[in-house]
Amino acid sequence: MENKLTIYNTLSRKKELFEPLNPPFVGLYVCGPTVYGDAHLGHARPGITFDLLFRYLKYLGYRVRYVRNITDVGHLVNDEDDGEDKIAKKAKLEQLEPMEVVQLYTNRYHKNMEQLNTLPPSIEPHASGHIIEQQELIKTLIDKGYAYESEGNIYFDVERYSKKYHYGILSGRKIDELLVNTRQLSGQEEKRNSVDFALWKKATPEHIMRWPSPWGVGFPGWHLECSCMSQKYLGNTFDIHGGGLDLQFPHHECEIAQSTAAQGHPAVRYWMHNNMVTINGQKMGKSLGNFITLDQLFAGNNAVLEQAYSPMTVRFFILQAHYRSPLDFSNEALKAAEKGYERLMSAIVQLHKLKASNENTVDVKTLRDNCFNAMNDDLNTPILIAHLFDGVRMINSIAAGSEKIDAENLQTLTELFDSFVFDILGLKGETDSSASNQALGKVIDAMMNVRKAARANKDWATSDKIRDELKNAGIQIKDTKDGYEWELE
Ligand SMILES: [Zn+2]
Repeated sequence: MENKLTIYNTLSRKKELFEPLNPPFVGLYVCGPTVYGDAHLGHARPGITFDLLFRYLKYLGYRVRYVRNITDVGHLVNDEDDGEDKIAKKAKLEQLEPMEVVQLYTNRYHKNMEQLNTLPPSIEPHASGHIIEQQELIKTLIDKGYAYESEGNIYFDVERYSKKYHYGILSGRKIDELLVNTRQLSGQEEKRNSVDFALWKKATPEHIMRWPSPWGVGFPGWHLECSCMSQKYLGNTFDIHGGGLDLQFPHHECEIAQSTAAQGHPAVRYWMHNNMVTINGQKMGKSLGNFITLDQLFAGNNAVLEQAYSPMTVRFFILQAHYRSPLDFSNEALKAAEKGYERLMSAIVQLHKLKASNENTVDVKTLRDNCFNAMNDDLNTPILIAHLFDGVRMINSIAAGSEKIDAENLQTLTELFDSFVFDILGLKGETDSSASNQALGKVIDAMMNVRKAARANKDWATSDKIRDELKNAGIQIKDTKDGYEWELE
């Protein structure tokens, strides 16, 4: 029963039984972040979706190699072949080395992903560390006639590719319409067709991220890195490629074209795409300027936030929606998620206190089947969570004495909750909840009022003692012109 996992394959547009190429091994590649800014709610979704998949596959006994890249070069500002490199632009704005920008935001991304309790990938390759592999793939594509050089740039010949293969196989776009409707960007007249995409770009004199190549000094195109790095670490054919729905076209379509043209067959067997996070129905994104960073969310530090939301509240919020459904941000939805998460956690505390009885009046086996069926149905976490809440009601009834559970069923129920809640959904207990933080704030306010009264009486000894005691407790007080601020060291 546990090994009946079906996943929705974007390529076939239907749910398919998941059968890895070389069981028990599974190769999973996911497009990672372009590291030029803080991670926002839109990054949390693929992070958590594919962490859920990684965790569940491991739970089912597979040995998963999970590769998630860091895009540190080649991703241009308007996601097309035109404009500045996103990293280089940020470096210029902040007067940093490009690799300083990359390191800074990679560190911050890792911190946020750890707060969300996502497991680190098995390999995290950087695009800039695979320039030679990317040049090799370009050479192969030129040799096979699918790429051409034009004024120091190398483009992929989409029309030529379409004569033999199906460009648009993933996204459903039609090549004839693309050929007619794609606008030629100014300065790109050297392309044979406007749909052709860059494999290598000539570096202009002011472009700081640059490498020598047989075609002159330049840098690789964005789509190329994922074809190279996925196949380098997972093989010419591998099981699952994931990413956000917004990457389906052109990014993933181009990846398919590159790999297929180079080796005569596609590389990926199952394509999985998570849906977007919206805010008031609009896609949340850095380019749209309507995003909420994860740090802001965890601190409650953004005008649209009515309070802080803990990392586990955010994780639970994301898991309450199916990964292929859109997820709309609202304070109401997050507050409901916070309540739901806390109810689940307190039920687990309750569960570990339950005593087995000689009788049994609850149906744990059906509950267990329901949980596996939900996960096996394309990772249907909202249904899984609904079943876990059936379990919560069961726990509460047993605790209240209106139902009874025997030792064997109690052990199954405990294992069920521990596996699904902690190992698979990846939730964990939080001591630093917003409620305890608020209580701490009140205690500090009370002590600071005593200190203020002491200072008014010129009682410096008491005033200093309060400051020192707070400091010993790890609470840093900073006097400001309006009063004070505190933070935990
Ligand atoms: Zn990618």
